Amino acid sequence: MTIALPAVLGGAPAFAEPLPLVRPTISDIPGLARRLEQILGSGMLTNGRVVRELEDAVAQRCDVEHVVAVANCTSGLMLTLLALGAAGRVVVPSFTFAASAHAIVWAGGEPSFAEVDRMTLTLDTGDAASLADEANAITATHVHGAPCDVDGLTAVAESAGIPLVFDAAHALGSMRAGRPVGGFGTAEVFSMSPTKVAVAGEGGLVTTNNAELAHAIRLGRDYGNPGNYDCQFPGLSARMSELHAAVGLASLAGLDERIVHRNDLVTTFKDRAAGVPGMTYQQVRKEDVSTFKDLTLIIDPESFGLCANDLGRALAAEQIDSRRYYYPPVHRQQAYAHLPQHRKLPVTDEIADRVLTPPLYSHMTHAQIRAVADAVVAIHKHAPAVRDALG
Ligand SMILES: *Cc1c(COP(=O)(O)O)cnc(C)c1O
Repeated sequence: MTIALPAVLGGAPAFAEPLPLVRPTISDIPGLARRLEQILGSGMLTNGRVVRELEDAVAQRCDVEHVVAVANCTSGLMLTLLALGAAGRVVVPSFTFAASAHAIVWAGGEPSFAEVDRMTLTLDTGDAASLADEANAITATHVHGAPCDVDGLTAVAESAGIPLVFDAAHALGSMRAGRPVGGFGTAEVFSMSPTKVAVAGEGGLVTTNNAELAHAIRLGRDYGNPGNYDCQFPGLSARMSELHAAVGLASLAGLDERIVHRNDLVTTFKDRAAGVPGMTYQQVRKEDVSTFKDLTLIIDPESFGLCANDLGRALAAEQIDSRRYYYPPVHRQQAYAHLPQHRKLPVTDEIADRVLTPPLYSHMTHAQIRAVADAVVAIHKHAPAVRDALG
């Protein structure tokens, strides 16, 4: 293959039209439109049977007893932690989306930031163990869809006698050692917001095998009102509407095929960019399946020749969108600047400095991802000149 001149050095951009980071995939829009019309005509816009149908479908695919649909993942995490009485310290990785930590604060707790494993980028089991005795709960994110060390974290939570909640925002369809994500820990919470792999417009799903917890979340999404307006606790208005549930159901159709395609796209990228020094990837254990909600590149500036941020700027000139998922890490964000930072998180800091997420979505083509990989290779080959041009 010939190495093109990067656009920042005057070459033609890799894409004539901007390549977005993500695009939601909805395969049967006419079918969905008919369903939405039925819902609108029924007069039942919330608390109806479409939400129950979505909950049942997810319970079946995740092999879990209870599913409670909510307005979004963040409110699902808030209600779960509130119901578990997790006020006090809650262990959470700093390398995650900020909502993982925000939910703890809204539930009356305080995040106790922990390290991630540098290979899987998920919560480091040993570091979580060192914080667990002083915590009321552990939360862990299946980052980019790669399952956490579920067994190790379960053992840590059990020995500390505290609940374990997975932020499974990215992981609807992920598998851990042959079992679907959704039935692990005390509860798992999914997101169906537009950047995820299964989308409802906006939406979240709490999955659990604990009937009492499921009941508390059902009340909690409805103000804490058991039906007689004698509210049992200050709940939220966090129901999923029937319309969103219909979009979510439509998006569940074909989810497994989309995940296979995303995994194939990732393989194509890695093959095409093989041999580029200083570029590595998040690892998914060989017995696990990731949704690859994101493909994240880990860039070592020394051997790649550019830092992740500059690679992102050079890709922008190629009309290729990218994000720093997750930079800055949550413990370094303004929202948490007031917390005593008594612990250093060197692995998190290093990983966060090095990550860059290029586009990946379910109806992306192999030709598109090859062109992204070729652009990364070309930018690397011309790294010194690119660095000078970026200033
Ligand atoms: C998207 C996301 C959330 C928030 O999901 P919403 O449904 O938008 O509330 C929480 N955690 C992680 C890791 C996410 O990526």
